Amino acid sequence: MRISILGAGVIGLSSAYYLSRAGHEVTVVDRHPAVASETSAANGGQLSYSYVAPLAGPGVVSKLPRWLTQRDSPVRFRPQMSVEQWRWCWQFLAACTREQSELTMRNLLPLSFLSRTLLHELIAAEPSLDFDFVRSGKLVVHRESGSMQSAVALLEFQRSLGCEQQALSADACVDLEPTLAHLQAHLAGGIYTASEDTADCSRFCQGLETVLRARGVRFLMNTSIDALRSDASGRIAACSGGAPLESDHVVVASGAAAARLLKPVGIHVPVYPLKGYSLTFDLQAQTVAPRISVTDFSRKVVYARLGERLRVAGIADIGGYSLEADPARLATLRAEAQALYPDVVRSCRSNEWTGLRPATPRGTPIVGPTRYRNLWLNVGHGALGFTLATGSAALLTRWFENGNGKAENDDLRDLFTVSH
Ligand SMILES: Cc1cc2nc3c(=O)[nH]c(=O)nc-3n(C[C@H](O)[C@H](O)[C@H](O)COP(=O)(O)OP(=O)(O)OC[C@H]3O[C@@H](n4cnc5c(N)ncnc54)[C@H](O)[C@@H]3O)c2cc1C
Repeated sequence: MRISILGAGVIGLSSAYYLSRAGHEVTVVDRHPAVASETSAANGGQLSYSYVAPLAGPGVVSKLPRWLTQRDSPVRFRPQMSVEQWRWCWQFLAACTREQSELTMRNLLPLSFLSRTLLHELIAAEPSLDFDFVRSGKLVVHRESGSMQSAVALLEFQRSLGCEQQALSADACVDLEPTLAHLQAHLAGGIYTASEDTADCSRFCQGLETVLRARGVRFLMNTSIDALRSDASGRIAACSGGAPLESDHVVVASGAAAARLLKPVGIHVPVYPLKGYSLTFDLQAQTVAPRISVTDFSRKVVYARLGERLRVAGIADIGGYSLEADPARLATLRAEAQALYPDVVRSCRSNEWTGLRPATPRGTPIVGPTRYRNLWLNVGHGALGFTLATGSAALLTRWFENGNGKAENDDLRDLFTVSH
């Protein structure tokens, strides 16, 4: 089959990997000249297989006043004159229950574990890939005892779903990651997960592009899809410059742009952009920086070592599609990094970046077929696109290969398919 994949981010490229391996003639299409030019460019770098709790949690409602008013809040809501935004927020608030949040975790953990297995297999199968991948382990530090207690309760719940995590005292956190020593007196403890990885998503995408080109996958870069068009026979064509692309099937993997691309053909996916920020510091020889991946829970900021760089990422702004960086938000992120790693912020050059997480209200991606027989979706991975990329792409490929027939991981496949 000839398949056009719309989007050369980590989701589109991973889809291209598994679909081409299944023998299909794949073309990847993107509006930018280079792969990973949007949200997959400079994300947090965490392959966060055991941390899949959605943003929509039971404690959200009490945090709303802060989200609306405080400029340095980790999450900020900027109301817009947009039905799309208000509908998404309504669905998000409806999902902020313990039951829904636990259901999301139950559904996502099998997908994230599958993704981990597949990524490790992919790395073994493609030795040319070099993307600062490290089996780093991850330490989530808590500053308040209440939040540490909730984390321990969550650990018990996640253990019942197959996660292997340890609760650590403040002293044990510092033994594990000595660069946190200056925070010791302020820490209530931490949760350590040895099985988490870190890597550079952009380099992963560039490496995959090379692998895919060598396998015969075509890349149509600098090509913007202006519209999807349906015909009387129930088929979809992706059009660029008014002309349809030649293909039998179309996979939409266009990240935060998915909802707007799909709406004109009557497919409504609840994908809305949550803007985040990152800073990437070029470390110098003597700079004090963490070896393992660290998350500062109360500030919702992640620190990932990518070779000789430190990636600091965080912030979720619910306020439309603009990628423009708000200097106040960048200053907030820099101040957080300064408090944890003053040496890094003082002495290292950094690059600033913003990206739009393609978020669904419940935090689960949408993977699978649509009512159009040649249109497929792999969208809505929110804050976990790098983590879930291989599993989602493999699921899509199984859908594609087996249709409604029985296949391995059928249960999983059905969880992420929404009727469209
Ligand atoms: C601050 C921040 C930190 C994050 N940290 C992590 C993390 O630590 N771990 C993790 O797993 N995830 C993380 N994420 C989330 C992750 O980056 C995303 O989920 C993932 O990159 C989404 O990939 P994607 O391929 O769906 O979208 P993108 O990477 O945005 O790719 C979509 C592509 O589609 C193209 N496109 C869109 N519309 C069109 C069109 N009309 N025509 C042609 N091309 C089009 C775009 O140009 C783009 O290249 C983070 C995100 C942010 C913002």
